[in-house]
Amino acid sequence: MSTVSTHYKTVVNRLHQACQNAGREPHSVQLLAVSKTKPAELVRECYELGQRAFGENYLQDGLDKIDALADLSDLEWHFIGPLQSNKTRPVAENFHWLETLDREKIAQRLNDQRPEHMPALNVLIQINISNEYQKSGISATDLMSFAQTLSSLPRLKLRGLMCIPEATDDPARLQQQFEHMRDLSQTLISHYPEATTLSMGMSSDMELAVACGTTEVRIGTDIFGARD
Ligand SMILES: *Cc1c(COP(=O)(O)O)cnc(C)c1O
Repeated sequence: MSTVSTHYKTVVNRLHQACQNAGREPHSVQLLAVSKTKPAELVRECYELGQRAFGENYLQDGLDKIDALADLSDLEWHFIGPLQSNKTRPVAENFHWLETLDREKIAQRLNDQRPEHMPALNVLIQINISNEYQKSGISATDLMSFAQTLSSLPRLKLRGLMCIPEATDDPARLQQQFEHMRDLSQTLISHYPEATTLSMGMSSDMELAVACGTTEVRIGTDIFGARD
């Protein structure tokens, strides 16, 4: 078996085990394979193993792969990197999801630029859950007013929340941030019943995120190997 194949199967098993340990259904957590900086051939290989949802951080890198894999019509592309307002159009025209929405101006542009023939763009609001200075994401206190703003934009579909927690090895701090996200997610769902996605957890903290209620883990390194 190839490296990606072995790694992929290990990650799927880990995810199922984590769900079992947390008393959750294995299919209650979606796996997003983060293919940033990796070649299209590896994405194709992962697709052949059954994976459909892929995450990209860098616009041109992602667009090149979307183009190279256009024959795979049921791929689902998530943009998970920071997005500048002058780069919104290619995201609106090529991706299925944007996970890092945190500015009204970006939301407005994506709404205006989403092509008519495509379904509304799925969006997640990014929360700066660790309240770090200059980190992407809105503050938790602004969540409901931002969600309200998005509800007036018909070409965007609010699907939930995303976070990148503090880079720390302290599991107690991570757990606190993940649990805060879960609380915010429940508040959001009570007003927007379709916004059920909670995207949190990466290679190093997937198990903790599952225990704290994530519905989507974003895994790069443990599937595709370390990045240069
Ligand atoms: C790179 C990245 C990931 C994947 O991280 P790994 O540690 O490689 O699993 C997940 N989410 C975001 C936003 C990323 O930029």
